[in-house]
Amino acid sequence: MTFARVVLLSPPFAELTYALPDHLPEDTWRIGQRVVAPLGRGSRVGVLLAVDEPAPGQGITVKPLVWPLEHEPLLPPAHLDLAAQIAKRQGAGLGQILAGILPQGLRTTQARIRFFGEGKPVEHRAGSLAGLPAEERREFGRLWAAGRAEVRAAGGAGPEADLCALAGDPPWPVRPAAHAQIALLEYLLAHGAVTRGKLLAALGPPAGRALALLSERGLVTVRPGDEAPCADPAGECAASPTFDLTPDQAAVFAPLREAALSGAASTHLLFGITGSGKTAIYLELARAVLAAGKPVMLLAPEVALALKLWKDAATHLPEFRRHLFHGYQSAGAKEKTFRELSENLSASLIIGTRSALFLPVERPGLIILDEEHDASFKQDEGLTYQAKEVAWYRASRAGALLLLGSATPDVKSFHAAREGRIPLHTLEHRVGGGTLPGVELVQLPQGRVDGNLLAPRSLEALARVVERGEQAVILLNRRGWAPVMYCLGCGATAKCPHCDIGLTYHKGRERLVCHYCGFSTPFPSPCSACGGLTFLPMGEGTEKLEEELSGILPAGTGVLRLDRDSTRRPGRMEEILDAFARKEAQVLVGTQMLSKGHHFPDVTLAVAADADLGLNLPDYRAAERTFQLLLQSAGRAGRGTAPGRVFIQTRDPGHYCWEYVIRADYAGFYERELEVRRRRRYPPFVRLGLLRVSFPVEESGGFAAVDTLGAALRQAGKDLGVTVLGPAPAPLPLLKGRRRFHCLLKAGDWQPMRDLYVLARARGGKLRISLDLDPVNML
Ligand code: ADP
Ligand code: ZN
Repeated sequence: MTFARVVLLSPPFAELTYALPDHLPEDTWRIGQRVVAPLGRGSRVGVLLAVDEPAPGQGITVKPLVWPLEHEPLLPPAHLDLAAQIAKRQGAGLGQILAGILPQGLRTTQARIRFFGEGKPVEHRAGSLAGLPAEERREFGRLWAAGRAEVRAAGGAGPEADLCALAGDPPWPVRPAAHAQIALLEYLLAHGAVTRGKLLAALGPPAGRALALLSERGLVTVRPGDEAPCADPAGECAASPTFDLTPDQAAVFAPLREAALSGAASTHLLFGITGSGKTAIYLELARAVLAAGKPVMLLAPEVALALKLWKDAATHLPEFRRHLFHGYQSAGAKEKTFRELSENLSASLIIGTRSALFLPVERPGLIILDEEHDASFKQDEGLTYQAKEVAWYRASRAGALLLLGSATPDVKSFHAAREGRIPLHTLEHRVGGGTLPGVELVQLPQGRVDGNLLAPRSLEALARVVERGEQAVILLNRRGWAPVMYCLGCGATAKCPHCDIGLTYHKGRERLVCHYCGFSTPFPSPCSACGGLTFLPMGEGTEKLEEELSGILPAGTGVLRLDRDSTRRPGRMEEILDAFARKEAQVLVGTQMLSKGHHFPDVTLAVAADADLGLNLPDYRAAERTFQLLLQSAGRAGRGTAPGRVFIQTRDPGHYCWEYVIRADYAGFYERELEVRRRRRYPPFVRLGLLRVSFPVEESGGFAAVDTLGAALRQAGKDLGVTVLGPAPAPLPLLKGRRRFHCLLKAGDWQPMRDLYVLARARGGKLRISLDLDPVNML
């Protein structure tokens, strides 16, 4: 008997040994193939890791595998290897990692197999094939081996997979007593487009009728799940002109092209100021590599930027096959791309966000991370990984060029370049000679005053821009209407019951919302402390700013808002950006979403309304992040022929960050920041890890357990050469009903931190413990 090793793609994610069944020839089974494996009374989808395994020990019964889920393996060996590397680095199981990589539809035993025998084709659910009589199974086995069977995708099959989405923004015309309908609308607002199955599972049976009513009234759309969310977005936009590279661009392009075509792995940094034409270099490199027959991956930190690159690629590289892949796509669309890439080996251009890095592309010749400094390249939830590192690993295995591009590189990347570890290419001028905008500081009064968030000077500049028919962007990195709701009855502020954090008032939704766990409650509802019903909103979010400006500016000016709330509906983000590009509005208010990448030639003014927001966060990169955000936002202004101006509103004009923003002096900022980090022992001078420890509020022995664990960690840290700081209460000490603690780890290398993590889990008892290497979210 021959044995095979299989890793399961759902809990317990174990690696198990199975026997090869006698209803299929042995050579049907291939490494990297998805298979249906029995477990308990049911079955699971797994991935075949090895055949010809040694027989398991005596007394262990080995069950036979049920069926393969494809003829050609979905995952090439290099891909399994990549997953194994990530698993090792995360201290996680291979099954968990693969489950994080594969789209939902590729992990379910609901897939159906259709067999073409004599007479009519017969279809069976893959999971149910095990229950057939032996004779029938063998007959199907013969058909499979003869290639007379096909696997039908599970994603997009049946009404369960229909995709439900909002058709309009709140407030919705629904009676307050229609609880099921309101719950459904709120759910879609919080989760974006979801399948009917997921919706009904989350909200229970009343949601079925509510969904029918809402879709009848046109408030919710329902459409087949395997349909792409929007057709090729390039179709709708005007073709951007093609052009030759400028001499500056050409000088950078030549050595990069050589590196990309050399077949040897290397990492390069492209440091080019905003508007210097980095995108054209990406696309020309992609052209060279695709023409040489190798795939290219072009990744952006956000969906909006990926869409912009997608449009650019559509006009500049129409002759190459392209795939778009990002987190907002439906399960069906993702599955389709995944399969197409695994089946078709001709070189194509993949454009997407970080999750696209896990597509089964064989031997990419070029991987580009645009806006490489962006924190969104790190995934924090579920499968945690740093895209930069995954990209580096892929590039080094494939002999590819990894190109990191930014106007404000990550301090760590720039340090590597300065030390000569990665080649640096610089673009110092804007294409067409446009100058960087003049930046001015505007001091906001200390403490709170009533009135506008925009200072008189900023408002006046805004009014003139509007008068001249130009455009302005206004950055406020805080969504909602008001971040603090103060009860006039007792003076308490409204707080989330699960997180002990202030609730934000969202006027359009008529709700108070927790920005950390998603909890929300209708507004007004009585104060939880005194039952009072009168609240004083304090502070401003984007929603209020939009409202204020619409009131102040001349009628017909048009004010648009771009933030996570205004873009929940599929396609809405493109609509807003396109409308602003078409000059249907003169002012665009938004969170950091609008700071990046977008190119609006008529924007001549950028205002950072509350520039200090990120500066005082408990994070060693607070200054770096603020600097990057503001320099990027400033880069939105003056990209056309008219010069631009930038106003930075701050309560702390003495902060060292601003002088570098004003001069757009990246190198100066870098020197200063590096000095601070050297002194305080932060990356790039040490490796940093964050051990997160938490327990439920009601757990009485929790504090004592954290203390005991802390003592053990500090002791073990001494032996392993890891500095252990804490455990101390996390900056958000209570979240989703759990008390949270942080332990900061500093060491020369990652491995001792992983060792410490193994020890922490062994000693931690009931505490929930996780390790985040090179943490991006420090809250
Ligand atoms: P960056 O990404 O560096 O901020 P972009 O790639 O968005 O800059 O380029 C800025 C603008 O200059 C874009 O509108 C782009 O189409 C245009 N552009 C880039 N390269 C050239 C060129 N060689 N000739 C003419 N226009 C160019
Ligand atoms: Zn909360």
